[in-house]
Amino acid sequence: MKEKLQKYARLLIEVGLNIQKGQNLMISAPIECAEFARMCASAAYDVGCREVIMNWKDDLSDRLKYLKAADDVFDTYPEWRKEMLTEHAKGGGALLNIYATDPENMAGVDHDRLVRSERSAGLALEEYRQLQMSNTVPWCVASVPIPSWAAKVFPDAEPDDAIDLLWDAIFNAVRVTDDTDAVEEWRNHIDQLTIRKDRLNELNLKSLNYKNSLGTDLVVELPEGHIWAAGSESTKSGQVFVANIPTEEIFTAPKRDGVNGVIVSSMPFVKDGNIIENFKMTLKDGKIVDVQADKGVEVLRNAIAVDEGASYLGEVALVPYDSPISNTKILFYNTLFDENASCHFAFGQAYPSSIKGGENMSKGELDRRGINDSITHEDFMVGTEDLSIIGITQDGKQIPIFVDGNFAF
Ligand code: ZN
Ligand code: ZN
Repeated sequence: MKEKLQKYARLLIEVGLNIQKGQNLMISAPIECAEFARMCASAAYDVGCREVIMNWKDDLSDRLKYLKAADDVFDTYPEWRKEMLTEHAKGGGALLNIYATDPENMAGVDHDRLVRSERSAGLALEEYRQLQMSNTVPWCVASVPIPSWAAKVFPDAEPDDAIDLLWDAIFNAVRVTDDTDAVEEWRNHIDQLTIRKDRLNELNLKSLNYKNSLGTDLVVELPEGHIWAAGSESTKSGQVFVANIPTEEIFTAPKRDGVNGVIVSSMPFVKDGNIIENFKMTLKDGKIVDVQADKGVEVLRNAIAVDEGASYLGEVALVPYDSPISNTKILFYNTLFDENASCHFAFGQAYPSSIKGGENMSKGELDRRGINDSITHEDFMVGTEDLSIIGITQDGKQIPIFVDGNFAF
């Protein structure tokens, strides 16, 4: 087990972030994952990292804050914390986010506090978010089991067994095994994603038409000059990194005002420690104008109302139904894994790199090109085994992109 953990830590540092000599690294991690976070720190120093800064997280302390802190706390964001994050990113520091949380950590918490807090953090961290979203610094999101999360994924298992089962599922998803070189496996995987990504870029589609038996029936226009991305990305200074481990998606941005129809979710969506199930959105000229859900509808309505851009889509991502994480049939209640098992969209901000030259465009220019802006960005899943996606070319030809949940090419 220790060897596998070290392989995984090296994978995150050497492929995920590709840490350079003299570069700083900030690791955000739950306190339950301290041992693994230290392994990552050690792997980073081994390749010449200048300094590792730890940013510890704790679900239970967070929950206590939302239940018991003074009410005005949720309308402000500490200046020192903003400075800590922003200065690190401005200095070119890499970001490793070990993301693991109890999917129901905030059940019963006042929604208003969650929304106000997201808004104040969003405003305070504007610069930090832009540095990350525009790939000015390398960043990587990965996960490690914690007891509360493992119990939700494997409710019938004993607590220790649930942790082991979740570790197995994660190792499988991130291609870490006893007898293979994970770094090599990842290079091959990224090459495979690149082939399909290149094909989609050659097609230069005008729009995508989605349909399945759950009720999704949607037209998604793509902006002029859009770029499909997958696998690895590159910072402005040329440092190649992988923003999500695992990653199975090929994604771009939709045209902000060019999405029309109905989207029906195919998996639960976890937002701020609350679970939203079986939801349906209606979009008109890009805007989400109606939302319904069997569970958590209020949380979802608040999430898309956090600012103007939150009610428009910022990402369209393709993942085959027949793919490694999807085939495990495990519902992870963790977007990092669930989004890589299913075609999905995100509401909120689009990646500027989804359009040619976008990284160097001003906010106004991105807006004119149909690239959405928001303080939020939340992926939610729509893929099913019968999903059909037809691509429409610039001259009106129809090209099958997805047939029965999988790529048609
Ligand atoms: Zn995605
Ligand atoms: Zn996303």
